[in-house]
Amino acid sequence: MIRLLRSMVRAYTPQMLLVLGLVFLQSLAALYLPTLLANIVDNGIIKGDTTYILQTGGFMLLVAVGGTLASIIATFFSSRVAVGFGRMIRRKLFTHVENFSLHEFDTVGTASLITRTTNDTNQVQQVLVIILRMMLSAPMMIIGGIILAVRQDAPLAWVLVAVIPILITAILVIMRRAIPLFQIMQKKLDKLNLILDEGLTGVRVIRAFDRVTHESQRFATANQDLTDTAIHVNRIVAAMMPIMMLVLNFSTIAIIWFGSIRIDQGAMQLGALIAFLQYAMLILFSLLMVSMLFIMLPRAAASATRINAVLDIQPEIADAATVNDHDTERGYVEFNHVTFSYPGAEEPALADVSFKAIPGKVTAIIGGTGSGKSTLVNLIPRFYDIDAGSVLVDGIDIRAMSQEHLRAKIGFVPQKTILFSGAISDNLRYGHAMATMDEMRQAAETAQATEFIETMPDGVDALIAQGGTNLSGGQKQRLSIARALVRKPEIYIFDDSFSALDYKTDAKLRAALKHDTTDATVFIVAQRVSTVMDADQIIVLDEGRVVGIGTHRELMATSQAYHEIVASQLAEEELA
Ligand code: ADP
Ligand code: MG
Repeated sequence: MIRLLRSMVRAYTPQMLLVLGLVFLQSLAALYLPTLLANIVDNGIIKGDTTYILQTGGFMLLVAVGGTLASIIATFFSSRVAVGFGRMIRRKLFTHVENFSLHEFDTVGTASLITRTTNDTNQVQQVLVIILRMMLSAPMMIIGGIILAVRQDAPLAWVLVAVIPILITAILVIMRRAIPLFQIMQKKLDKLNLILDEGLTGVRVIRAFDRVTHESQRFATANQDLTDTAIHVNRIVAAMMPIMMLVLNFSTIAIIWFGSIRIDQGAMQLGALIAFLQYAMLILFSLLMVSMLFIMLPRAAASATRINAVLDIQPEIADAATVNDHDTERGYVEFNHVTFSYPGAEEPALADVSFKAIPGKVTAIIGGTGSGKSTLVNLIPRFYDIDAGSVLVDGIDIRAMSQEHLRAKIGFVPQKTILFSGAISDNLRYGHAMATMDEMRQAAETAQATEFIETMPDGVDALIAQGGTNLSGGQKQRLSIARALVRKPEIYIFDDSFSALDYKTDAKLRAALKHDTTDATVFIVAQRVSTVMDADQIIVLDEGRVVGIGTHRELMATSQAYHEIVASQLAEEELA
C-alpha cells in the first residue's frame, strides 16, 4: 500500500499538492464559518447592528462560496489523480505480465491476473481518493475544531472530553468485528471468481459430462456464502450510523443543556453556543469519516499486496545485459545436448536432445502424445529456458540474443490455435503490419484458406468472433498458418498444425508450402506418418528422448520406434 502510494506521489506530485492546498483552504473555510456566525449573532443580531450583520454576513457568504469552490476543484483533481493512478497501475501490470514467460503465467493463473488488474486496482484507487481528501482535512477539523470550540467556551468543552472517548470506543468495537469479516469476504470473492472462471472456461466439459446442475450448485453455494458474509458485515457497519447519531444527538442535548445554564449565568453568549454546537459536529463527523477510512483500508491493503505480488515477479526469461544480435547466417537451428524440465516435474520433458536444422530443409518431429514434441519447438523461440546444453540459432546461443531479434526470425504456428477478435485481415497482418493485400492473398492461398474466406460474407474483412467461435478447427488452423506465412520468416514452426485437416488438404497444403518456403528452415510437428514422410530429416521422440533421426527410408531400416509408429498407422488406415 505504502509502495503504491509512493509511486502515486511520484507520478502526480503537482496535482496532489494542488488538491492538498485546496483541501486546506476548504477546511479553513469550514473552521472559520461558525466563528463568523457567532460574531453575527452576538455582535449583530443581539445588538441590532444591521450594518455589521450585512458586512459580516457578506464576508461569510464569500468564505462559504470560496470553500465550496475549493471543494469542487479538489474533488475534480483528486478524481483525476485517482483515475490516472488506476490507469498507471493497470498499464504497469499489463506490460509486466506481457513479459512473463509461460511458466509465470502458469503460477499466478489467468483468472487471478484479471481480478488483480481490474477489481484490486479499483479498490486501491478508491481508497487513495479518500486518503487524499482526508489526510489533511480530518486532522485539521478535529484539532482545529477542538481549539476553536475551547476558544468559544472552555468549560463547555468538557462535554467533548466526555463524548469523544465514547465515540472512539464505539468505533473501535465495531471495527474489530468488521475488519476480519471484510478480509473473509475478499477470500470468498476470490473463491467465487475461481468457480466462475472454471465454469466458463470448462463449459464444454461441464455440458459433455452433464454436470451443469452440479456446477450451478457449486456456484450457488459460494455465492450464498459470500452474500451471507456481506450481509453480516454490512449489518455491523449499518449499526455504526445509528450509534453515531445517538452519540451525536446526546452530545447536542448536553451542549445545549449546559450551554443554556452558562448563558443563564451570563458566562456565555448565544452565538458562542451556536458556534460551539457546529464545532462539535465538525469534530465528531470527522472522527466518523476517519473510522470509515480505517474500515476500507484493510481491504485496499490486501488488494495492494496482491498487485505488488504480481509486480514483484521477476520474469524468468530476460535479455542478457549485453545482447549479441550480430548473426550473419539465416535459418540455422542447432540443439546441443539439450535437457529441459518443467518446474516441479520429476522427469525432464526433454533429455539430451541434439540435432541440426538448416535452411531449405524440412525437419519433422514425430512421437506419441506427451513425448515432448511441443516442448522441443517451444524452446526455439525461448518460451522456456533450458537446464543444460545449448540452443543455437544462426550460430548464436539464444540466451545471448535479444528476444525481439530471435522471435523476428520465427513464424510460429502453435498447437492450440489462437486468433484475435477482429477482421480476418487483421489476424493475417498480426506478425507483419505492413503486409500488402497480395501478400495476404498469397499466404491464404498456400494455407488453403482462400476457399472458405471467399465464402464468408465480407471475405478478408469478415469478422472473427472472440475465440474464433464462428470458424471450424481446421479453418482456424489454416488462418493461423497463413498468419505465419505472411511474416516470411527464416524459421517456420508448425506444431501439430495439420491435425485438424483431412488428408487431402494436408497434402495440398504441404505441397504449396514447399514452394513458399524454399529458403526457410521448416519444423513440422505431427502424429501422422503421412505428414512427415517426405521430410528431409525426421526426429523420433519418445518420453523426451531422441530415439531415431534420419529420413523416412533410413528410419524404416534402422529405427524400431519409427517402424512401430508406421506399422500402427498403416494398420489403422487399412482398417478404415
Ligand atoms: P507433445 O507435444 O509431444 O504431446 P508436450 O511437449 O506437450 O508433448 O509434453 C511433454 C511432457 O511435458 C508431458 O509429459 C507433459 O505433461 C509435460 N508438460 C507439457 N507442458 C507442460 C507445462 N506447461 N507444465 C508442466 N508440464 C508440462
Ligand atoms: Mg504437442
